[in-house]
Amino acid sequence: MRQALRELHERHAGDRGGAPADYIPELAKGDPDRFGLAIATAGGELFQAGDALAEFTIQSVSKAFAFCIAIEVIGRAAVLGRVGVEPSGDAFNAIVFDPRTNRPFNPMVNAGAITIAGLLHERFGDAAFPLLLDRMSQAAGQRLAVDEAVYRSELETGHRNRAIGHLLRNCGAITGPVDAILDIYFRQCAILVSAIDLAWMGATLAHIGEHPGTGRQVFDLGAVRDTLAVMFTCGMYDYSGGWAFNVGIPAKSGVGGGIVGVVNRQLGIGTFSPRLDAQGNSVRGIRVFEDLASDFGLHAFECLNQGSVFVTSLLR
Ligand code: GLU
Repeated sequence: MRQALRELHERHAGDRGGAPADYIPELAKGDPDRFGLAIATAGGELFQAGDALAEFTIQSVSKAFAFCIAIEVIGRAAVLGRVGVEPSGDAFNAIVFDPRTNRPFNPMVNAGAITIAGLLHERFGDAAFPLLLDRMSQAAGQRLAVDEAVYRSELETGHRNRAIGHLLRNCGAITGPVDAILDIYFRQCAILVSAIDLAWMGATLAHIGEHPGTGRQVFDLGAVRDTLAVMFTCGMYDYSGGWAFNVGIPAKSGVGGGIVGVVNRQLGIGTFSPRLDAQGNSVRGIRVFEDLASDFGLHAFECLNQGSVFVTSLLR
């Protein structure tokens, strides 16, 4: 695995396609050529290559974890009452709600993620963000911090998200003060992680909520299943269908250049490369996942994947 990661790094390091996000001014400032890869196993092993320790802001990758936490602490029915689980096919920052339900399509687009922040604010008030940060830190296996410059940069320029927040307030998807709710959302997006952190966070999901290194139960079992399902169908912006088809690994990407992938019961995969394609996904990240999935047979519907151990054992 170590060798494979090194080779993948070498194979794709020369790819300079795409460009870093610059609509949050502070995001454009990092070195666009950083490239880090990491894989953590459900057995607690870690493999890495390149700039695997380089830090970047988690951005939308946080949406998967915030959803997972909300399902547990708010309750599945209450969460699903406010946000759907349908792929929207729209851009992440689309100002579009499901016309049938008047709810955001899913928790992986901004409108859905701001709704999740709203639900957490309703229940926990000012304690909502510390709760998110604590749980995500436990999933990473170390204390995570917020990049204050990126947070402030988005706070000052995030007018589109502010507009989405007010529309959500208007249609009752959120009930609290829009500014306080956006503050949670902007802070969660500005949490600093490395490819290694993402690999452990993915491995915690893969290991049904228990961090494979610390042994700590971080996430609720049922919430993990719900989260992986939504990552599989909605995690890669408007490339989610193509991704499920070509790669077949539940994943979530962020405009900071990170992607987290989860191979159920087996692996967490973290990649970081800031150059993004037109859909907002890391160009090299996609290539690495495509190669990993095909070289190691990681696609969820790969013929070598035996599926539920429980059912197979009953049939034996
Ligand atoms: N904070 C970013 C935004 O709301 C996150 C976007 C993303 O990573 O997709 O615009």
